[in-house]
Parts: sequence; C-alpha cells; structure tokens
Amino acid sequence: MFTRRRFIGRATALISAAWTGIAHTPVVVAQELRDRLKQIGGRIIQRADTNYELWRASMVWYIFKPDRYPDTIIRAESEQDVIESVNYARDSGLRIATRATGHNPARGCLRDGGMLLDTSHFMGVEIDAKAGTAWIEPGIRSQDLIELIRPHGWSFPAAHTGIVGLGGYLIGGGLGWNMSEWDIACRSIIGAEIVLADGRKIVASTEEHADLLWAIRGIGPGFFGTVLRYKLKLFPVPRGIIKSKYIVPMERTAELMEVLGEITANKKKQLEILAVAGRFVPPDKPPAERDFTWAVSAISFGRSEADGIELLEPVRSSKLPSMSSMQKEDAVLTYPELYAGQETDHSSPNRTAIHNIWTDDPGGALTTLAERWQKTPPRSPRSFALSAWGINPSPDDTDSAFTYTGDHYLSWYLMAEQADDVEPNFRWMDESVQALRPYARGHYPNEINMQRYPDTIRACFTEEKWRRLAELRKKYDPRGVFHSYLGFS
Ligand SMILES: Cc1cc2nc3c(=O)[nH]c(=O)nc-3n(C[C@H](O)[C@H](O)[C@H](O)COP(=O)(O)OP(=O)(O)OC[C@H]3O[C@@H](n4cnc5c(N)ncnc54)[C@H](O)[C@@H]3O)c2cc1C
Repeated sequence: MFTRRRFIGRATALISAAWTGIAHTPVVVAQELRDRLKQIGGRIIQRADTNYELWRASMVWYIFKPDRYPDTIIRAESEQDVIESVNYARDSGLRIATRATGHNPARGCLRDGGMLLDTSHFMGVEIDAKAGTAWIEPGIRSQDLIELIRPHGWSFPAAHTGIVGLGGYLIGGGLGWNMSEWDIACRSIIGAEIVLADGRKIVASTEEHADLLWAIRGIGPGFFGTVLRYKLKLFPVPRGIIKSKYIVPMERTAELMEVLGEITANKKKQLEILAVAGRFVPPDKPPAERDFTWAVSAISFGRSEADGIELLEPVRSSKLPSMSSMQKEDAVLTYPELYAGQETDHSSPNRTAIHNIWTDDPGGALTTLAERWQKTPPRSPRSFALSAWGINPSPDDTDSAFTYTGDHYLSWYLMAEQADDVEPNFRWMDESVQALRPYARGHYPNEINMQRYPDTIRACFTEEKWRRLAELRKKYDPRGVFHSYLGFS
C-alpha cells in the first residue's frame, strides 16, 4: 500500500509534470517503480536477463516444463521482500503467482507474464514443544519438518514423500502419514501470517481474519495472498510404526478389491492401507520387463511397538497374505525409514498427466482403471495408480475450505520419458478421466490439472464453499493482484 507521504510525493510529481507540459508521467512512475524494486534484497530475474530460462525452468520441479513465461521472478529472502514485491506487482499491473517448492503437478506457479513470487527460501521452523505447536515457513520440506520436531516428541501429517514442501501441500489440503487418525493436514493449521494484495501483513487465526484461516485450510493452488508462515498443531510421535507389504498378481484384482474392502471396514484409524498398481517387480529388471502387479502396503502408527503390531491384525487375519506372491510382514520402521525407498518416488520428476478422485467405491474404480491400463498401457512403464483406502476425512468440514466428498482416494500418474510422450499422456488421461467419472465424488486440489479439467477444481468444493471462496477473493483482492487457479481468470 502507498504510504500517505509516498502518495503525496507521487501526486506532486504527476502534477508538476502536467504543469510543465512535459509528458513525463509514465517515466516518473516507471522510475519510482524501478526504485521500489531496489528495496528488494532477494534475487530479481527479468525476462531479458541471460539466465532467465535457467531460473524459469528451476521454478517447476518436474522435468517437463510448461510454455509459460513470467515477466519477473522474485526469490524473496525476507518478509519485507514479500511486501515490497506485492506492492511493486500491484502498482505495475503484474499479476502474482506464489511458489514454495514447485511440486504442484499443474505447474501453476508458471504463468504467462506477471510476477512469480518464490518463497522457497523461507524454511524456518519455530517449535513450542510445551504447547505442541510450531510456526513453519512455506519452503520447509516434509521430512525436514518431521526431523526437526521429532526430538521434541512431536509429529505432523506431512506428505508421504519427504521432499514435498509444506507451502503448497498445506494450502491444498495435505494427505500425509497417519492421515486417517490425524485428518487432512490443513485442518491442523491454527494460524498464519499472510501478506495481502494491499501489501498489509495480517495474522489469520480463529480470533482474527478467521475467514482467511478457513480459506487457507484447503483452497488449493489459487490463493489470493502470500503465506509467510503457518502455525500448526502437532501430534505425539507414534512409537510403533509397523509396515507389512504384499505383492498381488493382477489376475486376482476382483478378489483383492473385496479383501481390501473387508480390511478397511475392520481397521482402526491408525492403520493406513495403500494399494498401488504399477510395474515394480522384480526390481532388478528394467521397468518395461517387470510385471504389472498390485503392491499393497499396510502401515500402522501405534502408541508402542506392540500396539503397532496389534493394529495390523485385520490384515494378518485376512486373505491378503495367502494371495500374495511376495510379502514382507511386520517390519518395524523408524520415521526416516518410512520416508525411504518408496518405489513410486523414483520417477516422480517424470510425471506429466495426473488426476485423482475421492470415491466411495474404490474397488469399482480401481478395477475399471486397471482393466484399461492392461488393455492400452500408458507409454511409460513407470506410470502407476495409487489408492488410499479408508482415509475417512472428517465429514464435519465447516472449519475449512477443504471439503469432504468421499472416504477413499485414488490418483494416477503418467510418466513421460521424452517430450514426445507428453501429449499422448494427456490424451490417455482424458479417456481415463471419462471412464472414472461415475466413481468420482470429488477431487483433491493438490493433484489435478485444473487447466485441462476446469470442472475438477470446482468439484473439490461444495457450491457454497466455491461461492464463499469467490467472495473472499473479491473482499481481499478486489483488483485481482493474485492469480486465481490456472485456467481461471
Ligand atoms: C513426489 C511427490 C509426492 C507427493 N506426495 C504427496 C502426498 O503424500 N500427499 C499430498 O497431499 N500431496 C502430495 N504431493 C502433491 C503436493 O502436495 C502438491 O504438489 C503441492 O502443491 C506441492 O507443494 P509445493 O509447495 O511444492 O508446490 P508449488 O508448486 O510451489 O505451489 C503450489 C501452489 O501452492 C500455492 N502456494 C505455494 N506457496 C505459497 C505461499 N507461500 N503462499 C500462498 N500460496 C502458496 C500457490 O498457489 C502455488 O501455485 C506430492 C507431489 C509430488 C511431486
């Protein structure tokens, strides 16, 4: 926001330019704006800079980058940088896209024109061990946060993959470890410091700007402000993390779906069930020569080792062990081991087309998808589908933009080995999106391409929540300083 002194100074410059009859107005204003850029201590990269393309490409973590080119990229180093950047962008008519660690598959931090405001260097964590809370900055990665809070006896439903940054993850919901018990991560945001479009820094909490707290709990990649810090509620570290894993042949899909349904109905919240379809075994062969199978993981988060083992009982006593061609049961894991060795992570930078649904019929949805996959496999053998059974997000979702639409989650990821794969992947995805439509109860904003499927971002929310988000956007960013969702103006 202009200070009064600045405003008077600028008005005086404009009046004197007009008085002398010299058409200096744009020059005076442009100079003032350029001067304002000098206040920014962080890195500024303009489109004309020789290393622009390197910077632009590095903003998106994936190998394949979209053809979208911001005019200015600012990597902020301080709170003041963010405020100055927002003021500069607003007064220069540049729309802002904010970035944390660049993992969002829609790659929406890259837009044509405007400013990309990079908050990846904000990685601070301030723990209040007694209260079980922490202020965290948007550039901190999931595993780094866990490692910092764990010695204090605390944990958090951070992303399943350690390198994913909390900035975008939290604002889009957050499906983290032990999510059935701890719920969607954004519901544990209890405060935030935000820079708004008018350049003001405000605190959002249940006491002040509660509407903004509601919005950042799940609005997804289209928020009308920049979050400087989130305040999180933490959870006691589970002392018994136990994992059992089973490989099940594709021919047994129908049976497996039934068994997973039974396990899910009998399991406690502290048991996470993930079923992944992909070419993972035998791991010593190249992906194209591996079998297309199910890899089912059951991970318990017990209060003790014995409790963790006990939580796995519905799996142990089911038909799953007898159906599997390979298995490893009751492995006791440390938190770092939980993050290590996820086969789906190895090729994740190659992800191109991605989609997801919330469903109440995971068996039907997965059977449909797996049949299609076998009939017309996607180009890359490293593509895979993931399902999380019985996440059961809290249906009482009034305190968050994140919206409950179904108990089970299914997402699928198409890899590109080369640029030529990208377009065919999108076409394959288009058909699978259609095929799975009957099973979709809603979508998760962190793993969709809202530009290609604009109806999916709407279906992340109820009509009422979608309207409320639009009203809040109008209230806090009436001039549209911040970009909305990709593909939405
Ligand atoms: C390998 C991999 C594993 C994943 N695993 C999981 C998982 O287990 N669970 C899960 O839920 N998701 C997972 N995801 C998806 C992930 O949650 C989203 O991609 C998320 O958006 C990534 O956050 P980011 O900060 O890296 O994204 P960015 O691309 O940097 O940001 C995404 C969007 O968030 C907003 N944003 C970012 N920073 C700020 C800020 N400071 N202020 C305001 N808005 C901001 C912007 O709108 C931005 O476009 C995974 C992704 C990958 C690539």
